[in-house]
Amino acid sequence: MAKRYQVIIIGGGPVGVGLAVNLGLRGISVALVERRVGLSNIPKGQNLSPRTLEHFYFWGCVDQLRAERLMPRPYPISGITAYGSLMSDYVPAKKRGQYFGWRNRAVGTVTVASIVASGLLLNVFHQRYYSAGFWMIFSLAAAARYCSGYFISRMDEPPHRKDPANDFTFIMFLRRFRESNFLRFVVFSGCLTFATYLAAPFFAVFMLRDLQLSYVTYMALQVCASLAALVALPLWGKHADLVGNVRVLRLSSFLAALIPSFWLFSQNPAYLMLVQLVSGFAWSGVTLSAGNFIYDAVTPQKRVRCIAYFNVINGIALFFGSSFGGYLASRLPPLFGYPLLGLFAFSCFCRLAFYLLLSRTFREVRAAPQVSIHELFFSVVGIRPLVGPARD
Ligand SMILES: Cc1cc2nc3c(=O)[nH]c(=O)nc-3n(C[C@H](O)[C@H](O)[C@H](O)COP(=O)(O)OP(=O)(O)OC[C@H]3O[C@@H](n4cnc5c(N)ncnc54)[C@H](O)[C@@H]3O)c2cc1C
Repeated sequence: MAKRYQVIIIGGGPVGVGLAVNLGLRGISVALVERRVGLSNIPKGQNLSPRTLEHFYFWGCVDQLRAERLMPRPYPISGITAYGSLMSDYVPAKKRGQYFGWRNRAVGTVTVASIVASGLLLNVFHQRYYSAGFWMIFSLAAAARYCSGYFISRMDEPPHRKDPANDFTFIMFLRRFRESNFLRFVVFSGCLTFATYLAAPFFAVFMLRDLQLSYVTYMALQVCASLAALVALPLWGKHADLVGNVRVLRLSSFLAALIPSFWLFSQNPAYLMLVQLVSGFAWSGVTLSAGNFIYDAVTPQKRVRCIAYFNVINGIALFFGSSFGGYLASRLPPLFGYPLLGLFAFSCFCRLAFYLLLSRTFREVRAAPQVSIHELFFSVVGIRPLVGPARD
């Protein structure tokens, strides 16, 4: 007689297998039907979230799973948050702008170089030894990660004293809008992220689908933004150390707010390269000064929590901005013949509106000379320097 099951599950992915295990643990008989006969060639579970680990915990196999991991033991989850917090403990406040400007430039240079190098490597190997190209890239990437893991493991963590007064929930954090300078900065940053991501995912679509640019031109436009950022980062860093992060943030976010409007005037690739240079210049200032402002504005004991809340709010803003942008993309009337230009104009309007409403709601926390935004602009672009040999 054919065997009978209480439940039949079609599909043996994580959801199907997880469900089968859970039902089996409850004494329910299950048949799992999977069309694949072997494992997928693409790894799809490199990072496991705490929620996923909860399942392994209840199935009683979390220790075996941890024992199988490939990453070295001290490798941090949420590495960016932990790394940012650690470095802000290490680097004195007065040198953060310069240090992070230099560091981001170094990382950016290596990133651009590794993208170009891996592209060239695949190009060379792709005709005859396709997998050898990937093998080389992955081996180099693994070696580089182990090198950085080694250096991070040699860093000492400055001692921290646990103080219950520094523990606060996300809701408690949000309730302090009136008195918290840092929260007002987070709201500004979240709103700017929302307005930015209304349009941000669609620049690539506009270039490739609407303007029909070739991949080479598209790549050249991307590289322009990255190169401008590499040149600008140390300049922003030096100025942030001198005049404070808030002034740099106000200038750079104003420039970043204007960028979508530049796309309306012309779609000539040479002109767009210029726009991308301005974009890389402006956004490198926003990223650097916003990151450094967090380190200035919150005490070391609260820093990790505040960076995490900042990332949560910006992540939510990014999600809603992109989703709303996607909704509007096919509904706004075309501008100069392109529907997406209407979206860029709307994003620019929102960015400027949030800038005008919120950029003055938070203040600088370090003592810094009063410099107007245009004085700062002329100094950063090298016309009338406030820092450097010309000034000394
Ligand atoms: C490149 C990549 C990297 C990822 N990295 C991570 C990561 O690091 N961490 C993480 O948590 N998540 C990661 N994910 C996401 C994760 O893989 C998915 O969320 C997860 O696989 C979804 O599980 P699922 O069971 O819903 O679907 P699937 O994994 O798609 O499984 C569905 C299964 O059903 C089978 N099937 C379909 N139709 C039939 C049929 N008619 N008959 C029989 N069988 C059928 C399919 O063959 C497949 O095996 C990644 C995804 C991708 C693509």
